[in-house]
Amino acid sequence: MTDTKRLYYDDAYLVDFEADVVERREHEGQPAVVLDRTAFYPESGGQPWDKGTINGVEVLKVVEADGAILHVLRSAIGPGPVHGRIDAATRFDHMQQHTGQHVLSQAFFELVKGETRSFHMGPDVSTLEIGLGGIADRDLDRVEDRANDVVREDREVKTYFVPEERIGEVPLRRPPKKTGLLRVVEVDGFDYSACGGTHVRRTGEIGLIRIGPAEKIRGNLRFEFLCGGRALRDYRLKDRAIRRLASMFSSSAGDVPGQVEKLATEHKALKKRARHLEERLAAFEADGIVKAAQGRVISGVLEDRSPEEARFLALNVIRRGDLAVAYGARGEAQAHLILARSESLKADLRQLVPIIAAVVPVKGGGGPSLVELVMTDKGRLKEAVEAAAAWLAENA
Ligand SMILES: [Zn+2]
Repeated sequence: MTDTKRLYYDDAYLVDFEADVVERREHEGQPAVVLDRTAFYPESGGQPWDKGTINGVEVLKVVEADGAILHVLRSAIGPGPVHGRIDAATRFDHMQQHTGQHVLSQAFFELVKGETRSFHMGPDVSTLEIGLGGIADRDLDRVEDRANDVVREDREVKTYFVPEERIGEVPLRRPPKKTGLLRVVEVDGFDYSACGGTHVRRTGEIGLIRIGPAEKIRGNLRFEFLCGGRALRDYRLKDRAIRRLASMFSSSAGDVPGQVEKLATEHKALKKRARHLEERLAAFEADGIVKAAQGRVISGVLEDRSPEEARFLALNVIRRGDLAVAYGARGEAQAHLILARSESLKADLRQLVPIIAAVVPVKGGGGPSLVELVMTDKGRLKEAVEAAAAWLAENA
């Protein structure tokens, strides 16, 4: 066991430090160093490791492995004392989220007896799993209000060590997971947690605590939450989005959901109307095509149509007589070959698949009276249509 002095225990704001390398190792193929002292927080208890550099070399990760704190480096560093530098903005963000989590966990416990099951700090949002099957919006608001009251009260956040045998005297929210000398993080008179993480000095520094959406997991509720800078950025993003929508609708922000609902209803009605008109148009077009047809095979590449439109037209055509159709149409990435025949005809169009495949590589299939094939070589669509038409002339 290499005992590295954890400088962040005493001062979470320390982002520059000097240390000596006590051991060099390799971790997952990268050079790693063990220091006699470090301000780097190793990944633990739901909190990610600190970003930063050692002697200017990027620290890829900081983990506790094989009884030591390993600083895994982008490249090896030379001998001698080292200078560590923590990315201060990321560290402070972690301090805000982590202290906010303590406050939120206690607010859940105090108001709705919701116990914290787990905590995870992500790069964008954090999650808190609470032992509740459900919660009313009204109660969730009370929890959020209570947490923000504690922020506004600007309570001191104290850390101290308590020997295991005396930990019973501390009103911990959760029983400790570790043994020996335990580090207690106390949000003055409000919350007591055994925790080795980095926290702000006073709750005022947490900033706004905002509870986000929840999902059910393992019979519990897992909430997203944001604190401080993250909550501000989220508010800014959403405020801009809503204001943009409001100006599009010439409405107030509060009216946006109603406006969107109205638009969705109108959109649905218009789609229905468009489909109806398409059907009438296709019937009209199909009549013209059938009248102009010479023989029972109708074929061609429909240059100005999507594959869906071509299929729709083909189905309308075959309903109007004893006819077989081979239409080509180009989609975004692939060309489509649509083969269809009237029910009165007997040919099995699936027999055409290997014949077309011998001309150009295709994928797809269908039934005896309707086959749709796609090809990535859009330039050979005409060739495929002609091969299909020739076969249909003989066999359909
Ligand atoms: Zn903590």
